[in-house]
Amino acid sequence: MADRPCFPFPGLFVFCRTGKGRKTMEKNVFVSKEQLDEITKKWLTPFHLYDERGIRENARALREAFSWNPGYREYFAVKATPNPYILQILKEEGCGTDCSSATELMMSDAVGFSGHDIMFSSNDTPPEEFALAEQLGAIINLDDITHISCVEKMLGYIPKTVSCRFNPGGVFQISNDIMDNPGEAKYGMTRRQITEAYRILKEKGAEHFGIHAFLASNTVTNDYYPALARQLFELAAELKRETGAHIAFINLSGGIGIPYRPDQEPNDIRVIGEGVRKVYEEILVPAGMGDVAIYTELGRFMLGPYGCLVTKAIHEKHTYKEYIGVDACAVNLMRPAMYGAYHHITVSGKEHAPCDHKYDVTGSLCENNDKFAIDRMLPEIEMGDYLIIHDTGAHGFAMGYNYNGKLKSAELLLKEDGSVQQIRRAETPKDYFATLDGCPMMKKYL
Ligand SMILES: *Cc1c(COP(=O)(O)O)cnc(C)c1O
Repeated sequence: MADRPCFPFPGLFVFCRTGKGRKTMEKNVFVSKEQLDEITKKWLTPFHLYDERGIRENARALREAFSWNPGYREYFAVKATPNPYILQILKEEGCGTDCSSATELMMSDAVGFSGHDIMFSSNDTPPEEFALAEQLGAIINLDDITHISCVEKMLGYIPKTVSCRFNPGGVFQISNDIMDNPGEAKYGMTRRQITEAYRILKEKGAEHFGIHAFLASNTVTNDYYPALARQLFELAAELKRETGAHIAFINLSGGIGIPYRPDQEPNDIRVIGEGVRKVYEEILVPAGMGDVAIYTELGRFMLGPYGCLVTKAIHEKHTYKEYIGVDACAVNLMRPAMYGAYHHITVSGKEHAPCDHKYDVTGSLCENNDKFAIDRMLPEIEMGDYLIIHDTGAHGFAMGYNYNGKLKSAELLLKEDGSVQQIRRAETPKDYFATLDGCPMMKKYL
């Protein structure tokens, strides 16, 4: 990416000099080499480390940005970081949870979320999961018009409060930038279906309605939410006119992104909150809908930057390219392998060293896409160095799997007082073999 001589957020970045005097940008890390040396005495790499202070400060900034809306609430997308200790922190900061499966509902319940603290935004939903959501008192967000009869059959009634997911089709565009392609997405109801769904639901006893839409992912711009809000607010006013339904909330869902690359300008959540407020006052207030609550279901924005994957360099290989083999692999962080996603890497303790070595940083899977970085300029890496892979707090550990018999890592929490708490232990072979528990051949390992 382009080198820029200066950056408007000097506190967030420091420069890393390359050998030829060029500058590349370096992202700050929330854990120092000294802290890592202490942590790795107690826990083996790899592990995900989360920053409680960052999580709390960011959650407060979000709440502040939407404080103009009395009903505002963030429902944290559990799938991003499904850990009860993380959910507990967000609960203390006033968040609810957004769940899309039975186990996410169970975890929310266990942490103490109940009733309308929980949003159930699922798709292709197994009918029993509607029953569990209803049992917990969650708000059910219907992905499709056919789910109305499915819910009715399952519960015997339609809940008083219910939400519908909207998909406008086509492409989602802001000015000349096409941001995403809702017409190709499996989610949500068409414009016609949502009116019909509201009518049917109302007839069957629903009293309070919500609208939900998720039209673009990882948007690194302050314009996404306001543009989405405009579409949904106009839709809300139309739906109210057409069906007479009481619209209680509008759920802008997830999609606010984070700057994975060091030269990307981060979103300014205050600007985003203000942008949504302007549209609210322009559209909803004149429509007599100034009591509508705004909800969000952010995952990446809430946790992404406040987690990192710490891994150790264990091999160097010089063939047609220069490889650094680390003790983490795509099982611990799938995004680079799956999407070719960029994750910045800092070599702990070498934050200010020149980035004059070009490496591929690889994991050990028998898959050539198991690379955390390709042709990345980094400081010279020595065996035993700790590599900090940035922005793994959301959709990091959570996407883990067990390919090649690899085991999932521990999750650690760096608390505000500087102490470290293990919030999930690393998997053991016994965990991996646990589902073979009836197998006599495996006895030795169970
Ligand atoms: C994934 C998801 C989110 C969170 O998305 P982020 O990109 O992490 O903000 C929110 N709502 C629903 C329904 C989702 O599927």
